[in-house]
Formats: sequence, structure tokens, C-alpha cells
Amino acid sequence: MTTQPLAQLIRSAVDVDAVVALTRDLVQIRSENPPGRETEVVDFLRGVFDSMGLGKGTVVEPVPGRQSLLVSTADLARSAKPVLLINGHLDTVPVRPDAWRHDPFGGDVHDGRLFGRGSADMKGGVAAAITALQVCRALGLELPCEIAFHLVADEELGGARGTAVLLHEGLIQADACLDPEPTGLRLCLAERGLMFARITTHGVPAHGSEPSKGRSAIITAAAIAQALHDSEFPQTPHPLLGATTCNVGVIRGGSAPNVVPEECELHIDRRTLPGDTEQSVVKGLTDRIASLGLAPGADYDLAVDTYCEPSEIDADHPFVGTITESFEAMTGRAPGITGLPFTTDARFMRNQLAIPTVVFGPGRFELAHTVDEYVEVDALISAVAVYAHIYATFTGTQQLNDRMS
Ligand SMILES: [Zn+2]
Repeated sequence: MTTQPLAQLIRSAVDVDAVVALTRDLVQIRSENPPGRETEVVDFLRGVFDSMGLGKGTVVEPVPGRQSLLVSTADLARSAKPVLLINGHLDTVPVRPDAWRHDPFGGDVHDGRLFGRGSADMKGGVAAAITALQVCRALGLELPCEIAFHLVADEELGGARGTAVLLHEGLIQADACLDPEPTGLRLCLAERGLMFARITTHGVPAHGSEPSKGRSAIITAAAIAQALHDSEFPQTPHPLLGATTCNVGVIRGGSAPNVVPEECELHIDRRTLPGDTEQSVVKGLTDRIASLGLAPGADYDLAVDTYCEPSEIDADHPFVGTITESFEAMTGRAPGITGLPFTTDARFMRNQLAIPTVVFGPGRFELAHTVDEYVEVDALISAVAVYAHIYATFTGTQQLNDRMS
């Protein structure tokens, strides 16, 4: 066994071509959601894991065509080692190809950037996490932990057919979780939650020539839209996430110019902070509307269409320390710390299972979902190196706690 320091060993073994090729392979297999078509990419990855000697894993398929893949370095029930979970999603958002200058399913590299749908969000991160394990195995490293991959469906539309299924079936057990979503290789410790809600206002119809004989649902909706859009909801800004926001994204109502409108609908997107609950968010909205003198039921109804809770991990958590140490060992500098303005599957692990979870991956999140999405090849290489170092040094969070106390 060599006496070279670990970081140097890993650096010498990182295979640039391997991570680029795997990212390209994944980009070339379409998995846009909707409709969600993870089957082909799961099939392909089963072959990859099999060729690494990990077997073909377990496929969870709650509805036909919506597959998540579970693979690990050992039978976790029998292993005494701590488990590091890698949770990454295989679906992407859809593409309008005519807007792209690059082939969205080509994975071509130009000027150090690999282009394609999902390159940043998050097939590049998934490829880096798998390649990192290949690096550890090529070096013959005896890992202090087991690595479990949960490569899931349906994250882009909320995870109900992906990570949420694994959660409800009791399949998620780990000491810590790394989620390689695109964060520009910064450690993302918190993310905002979201609520999509529909507000329907009620009016009294009348002839358009005599509006005073009716009550316009559109005028009521306009007042609500103004109040919610301008609103600064009373709350202390989060150090990583800033303030809450509210966007009125859709307005729809009325039937004809000569009819006082009976009904109008607003669709709102409210982003929330750790500490908010579904009830508190609804109350914030209805309090605001009540300040206009409008009453629920009589003047309007509010229905929640989607709710994803916010989540965070304490910056002082030992697992954040583990990742920070690996980042410093491999790059020679301290990592940036950030928050995400949108939600990821990390919330399931953080909130429902109390599994310490850090979102940390290659690619800039500003590029996620955009035309000509890309991931920097340099970022893929750094991610492989840091992940491999984490795999080689993660001894669980309990031991770290003991060591620190
Ligand atoms: Zn993503």
C-alpha cells in the first residue's frame, strides 16, 4: 500500500474521460418529466452498477414507467458501517428544442462545457457521484462507510412518484445524505419551501351597461393580486435564503365584455422559509386578504394545489464539517455556503427522517431548466474528487459527535 496522502492519490486517479462519458450517456437518454420516463435511464444505470460489481440493484416502480433505482456497496442490513446516501434524480424538465443552439440530447463538449438537458440538473452530479465510487474502487480503498445510491424519479414535479415513495415504503435509512444537485460546488444548507395556491373570487353578475348593479369578481381579484404581489409578509429574513416571496402568476376570469364577471381565478406561487408550515402560510395569505375587508367563502375561496416544505441543516453539523474537510483537502480552499431559492428532495431526508443532508454538486443552479443548459467539465472533475474523498473519510455523524465532545 502506498503512503501517498489520500488527496494526492485521489487526484491521480480521477478519470476525466469517464465522468464526461457517463454524463454524456445520461444526457443522451431522454427522461423528461412530464411525462416522466425514467425507465431507460434506470436500465442503463443498472448495467453501469453491474459492471462495477455492485449488481443491478432494486427497482421501485409505483406506477408503470416511473422507476427509481436503489444500489449499495453492501447489504445495508448486515453491514456495521455507517451509510452515506446519495440521493439524485434522473428526471429532467422538458425541452423546446427549437430554442436550443446545442443538441439538448447530445452531451457535446465545447470550450470546457458539456451541453444538454439535465447536464447541470442533475445528470452531471449523478455521474460524478458514481465515478467517485469507481475512483475509490480503482485505488483499492477500504471505505469506512457503505455508499447507497437512490437514483429517483419525479423530483422535478415534487417527488411523489420518486423519493416520497421510498420514504413511505421505509426504504430510506442512512447516517447522512449527499444530494448532488447543481449548487456551483457550494454547500447548500437550506432551501425555501413553496406553495402553489388557487384563489377564486366570487362576484354578482349584472349587465355590463350597469356595473353598479353587480359586484365584479375581477375587481376583487385585482385587489387581492395587488395586495399579495406587493406584500412583504412579516418575517425575519433567513441568512442564506433572504425573504419570502409571492408571485401572482395566472389570472383568469369573466365571460364577456358586457357581463359583470361572476368568477375570477388567481394562481399564486408563495416561497417560504424554514419555520413556516402549511397552516402558517395559508394564514399569512388569508390575513392579508382579510385586511382588504374580504371574507373567505363569501368573497373568495383559497385552495392549496402544491405544498413543499422548506428545510435546512445546521451549519455546525458534523456532516457539514466532513464535506468541508474533503472540499478543502481536494481543492485547497474553503467551500462557499449557500441556500437554494427552490426545493429539492433533500427536504424528505431532512424533515421526515432527520437524516443530515447537504446539497452539493457541479453545475450552476441558475442554468437548471434553461435553454442551452450546461455543466463545466472542471466542475465535474472537482465533484468526482471531493465525493471520492468524502466516501473515503465518512465515518458517520455519531463518531464525529463523540470526537467533538
Ligand atoms: Zn434538480
